[in-house]
Amino acid sequence: MINKSILSVLILITAISCSDKTQTNTKMTIQKDSSPFTEEEWKAKLTEEEYYVLREKGTERPFTGEYWNTNDSGIYVCKGCGTELFRSEAKFDSHCGWPSFYEGIDKTKIKETLDMSAGMLRTEVTCAKCGGHLGHVFNDGPKDKTGLRYCINSVSIGFLSKEKYDSIQPKK
Ligand SMILES: [Zn+2]
Repeated sequence: MINKSILSVLILITAISCSDKTQTNTKMTIQKDSSPFTEEEWKAKLTEEEYYVLREKGTERPFTGEYWNTNDSGIYVCKGCGTELFRSEAKFDSHCGWPSFYEGIDKTKIKETLDMSAGMLRTEVTCAKCGGHLGHVFNDGPKDKTGLRYCINSVSIGFLSKEKYDSIQPKK
């Protein structure tokens, strides 16, 4: 319990320091290898906040995003390219202030990279198709599932309700 509280505080501090750093230094290194668009095209396509998180690896403030506290059935997709990333069945309440999932739909669709920024050793997760920054994955997820916690920025993802998702599937 104590460890969890410390972790939450650390995450909060990191989130705050991350956003401070980015506001004063907008020229961050951006991964371009898998991006289907130029940075100018991304800027035109995304809102300012989406660009900051997806392309500049920013972090939204905890407990402020659209999906941190939702339980609706459906599919979460990449805001950058529409790739299906997470199922609502894998979402759990982590109390960390960001939507959290214990697994992705398909391991090949989520790229994991060692991240040593902000004085921490973390594993960054990005969309394998467009290179968009999604968040980080930690080892403190539900022990009866995968033990993983994919801590994802709401602004990096979109949501398709089960009804909407079913309605757009090709008819058999
Ligand atoms: Zn994507």
